[in-house]
Amino acid sequence: MIDQYANRFVCDLVAYEPGKPIDETARELGLDPAEIVKVASNENPLGPSPLAKIAMRDALEDAHIYPDGGGYRLRSAIAESFGMELSNVVLGNGSNEIIELLCHTFLNRDAELIAAKHAFVVYKLMATLFGAKYVEVPDPGFIHDLDAMAAAITDKTRLVFIANPNNPTGTMVGQAEIDRFMAKVPEHVIVVFDEAYFEFPDAPPDVLKYVREGRNVCVLRTFSKIHGLAALRVGYGLASKNVATLLQKARQPFNVNSVAQAGALAALADANHIAQTLAVNRAGMAFYEAALAARGLEYVPSFANFLLIKTGHGDQVFRDMLKQGVIVRAMSGYKLPEWVRISIGTAPQNDRCLEVLDSVLASLGAPQ
Ligand SMILES: *Cc1c(COP(=O)(O)O)cnc(C)c1O
Repeated sequence: MIDQYANRFVCDLVAYEPGKPIDETARELGLDPAEIVKVASNENPLGPSPLAKIAMRDALEDAHIYPDGGGYRLRSAIAESFGMELSNVVLGNGSNEIIELLCHTFLNRDAELIAAKHAFVVYKLMATLFGAKYVEVPDPGFIHDLDAMAAAITDKTRLVFIANPNNPTGTMVGQAEIDRFMAKVPEHVIVVFDEAYFEFPDAPPDVLKYVREGRNVCVLRTFSKIHGLAALRVGYGLASKNVATLLQKARQPFNVNSVAQAGALAALADANHIAQTLAVNRAGMAFYEAALAARGLEYVPSFANFLLIKTGHGDQVFRDMLKQGVIVRAMSGYKLPEWVRISIGTAPQNDRCLEVLDSVLASLGAPQ
């Protein structure tokens, strides 16, 4: 079998399972794609930034020209908006690519990567791919325990991932815990703050100060969530110059395409779309919190644009809701078989999702 000639770390890998696509669901169930509600991947329910759409249409005219491999305009705008230098900004094909670049750059078979037990699963996939040891630290109450994560650091530790707010739990650690943690982190460890949902909480902690201080830190952000550009695949890392310079060497020359660069640049300046997205999310979150409390359903209080809900029989709930055209995310891949994760949608999407959840739980005989 060809597998014997392959990298064994690849053979052992369990492929990432994304949220179920709308088209695939429509095909399998014989439904109209327009009727399907997808609340499975924390996408922006309002769609892309309208300014980004205009910029992307314009950018199509030059699709025969290779993109700016240095991403000058987008990187400059990002640097300026955070008071940083161009040399601090690395673009990625989604922030997922930056996760891979960090692993390429800092992991090997002797290295260790530390993350919380219920952290974003891509860290584990990447650690496995690079043959490094994945060190999983318990997170009581689904909240990263930064003291325990600091205590897990050894001479072999190269990367510590802190997803803040974390996916799939929606929990966030605060400034005091982070400052205490950073005071303990030695020089040979790179701390990665994955801030894919940074824009959603009212008062997120400031970790960019550590980048400005020149610490070995990389902060990940993305255009996939608040800006509504998940399909474009564009994210970025903000890192101290020494870390950023290494990451630049590890990436493909044209890793972010020109349409994505143009869309992201316009989205960054679209304050209106950001404000509307936050308003819809806040209203939807309040709606779900009240509805779940009224039903006595346990959920994890969330700082992001999704909720982790204990429905019991997560896989079954996912499948039954799917049959009624609502796509949520089962959590057995996170070893949370009793839970599902639901992204906050528009008011009509939230109504529909809750109605279908009610009917599924009633038919399963779960307490209402
Ligand atoms: C969605 C998400 C990302 C972003 O992924 P992209 O590759 O930028 O689309 C990164 N980290 C976490 C924790 C996420 O939930």
